[in-house]
Amino acid sequence: MYPWLIEAEEYSFNDINDGIRLHLNESPFPPPDFIIEEVKKYLHLGNRYQHPSLLERLRELMAEYNRVEPKNIYPTPGGDGALRAVFYNLIQTGDKVVINNPSYSMYKVYASVRGLKLTRVNLIENDNWWKMNFEKFLDEAKNARLVIIDDPNNPTGSPMLKAEEDKVRALAESINGFILIDEAYYEFSGYTVAKLINKYPNLLIVRTLSKAFSLASYRVGYLIGNEEVIKNLMKGATPFDISLPGYIAGITALENPSYVRKIVEEITKNREYLLNGLRKLGLKVYNSLTNFVFVKDERDLLSPLLNKGVAIRKPIIGYYRISVGTKEQVDALLKYLGEIIENSNSK
Ligand code: PMP
Repeated sequence: MYPWLIEAEEYSFNDINDGIRLHLNESPFPPPDFIIEEVKKYLHLGNRYQHPSLLERLRELMAEYNRVEPKNIYPTPGGDGALRAVFYNLIQTGDKVVINNPSYSMYKVYASVRGLKLTRVNLIENDNWWKMNFEKFLDEAKNARLVIIDDPNNPTGSPMLKAEEDKVRALAESINGFILIDEAYYEFSGYTVAKLINKYPNLLIVRTLSKAFSLASYRVGYLIGNEEVIKNLMKGATPFDISLPGYIAGITALENPSYVRKIVEEITKNREYLLNGLRKLGLKVYNSLTNFVFVKDERDLLSPLLNKGVAIRKPIIGYYRISVGTKEQVDALLKYLGEIIENSNSK
């Protein structure tokens, strides 16, 4: 057994069976009925491996959605599948990877599992946002094999490069390796570097249908990148990596993607309502371009909320990440938080 695997970190989080789930940045809305109905029609074919035409149809739709070519798309089991494709094929044990701190927790996990040298560049607090220390990041990128930027950033909800081409170019030209921009929250932020993939062949983009498309457990995501890179990466894939329900849900969703707009509108409205509510409670909370908000607080909010049946996430000591739920869920959270804060003040 390799020593780094024995020492490696694992994905860690506390889940709940019932109650209000505001800890995993899920969509609070179930998949639309037209998707569920379509998936049901195919369930009896589960004994068979599916024809590669399903993979090709999904690629085609993902390409259309992003105004790129199917050969620029690698469909994967969720955004995590896309991340694994990169971590297991484009970088070797001992190589250097650079990420922001904080950023999506799985980057650290995959880096440790693969025995990579991880450098983390601290984000800078900037009023109601967080921003990248771009100079430092660029400097670290010079002898790295891979840099990963979740944009917008998880857990802060802040924009990072915001699809600025000058910054992408600077990174693409400095690194002897790949830049991975994780756009898991693209539908909420509205900006993307997708149109730059042909100009910068070492640029890759992660996407997922887990968030705004409301399909987290169907496990559908993809990588967008240069034709040559995608072709080589897909050598390690079969047309069976995504399950049949995943294929049907993904295809049906991308054939009728307009439902996503309604989800994004509703979540954006609820997010601003949540931000205002939290600020009225006197909490320090940052603006967000995503379906979650980031809160700075030294008190223990996690366990008293859990006692009320509400799960949120504590990604780092002194900070909380709260996913945006339905209006009713936001109201319940604000009510419970109000009570918890009042109790802690009166003690
Ligand atoms: N990237 C980021 C930044 C995320 O926040 C997540 C999920 N929380 C993912 C990737 C992976 O998403 P999934 O595998 O569910 O598609």
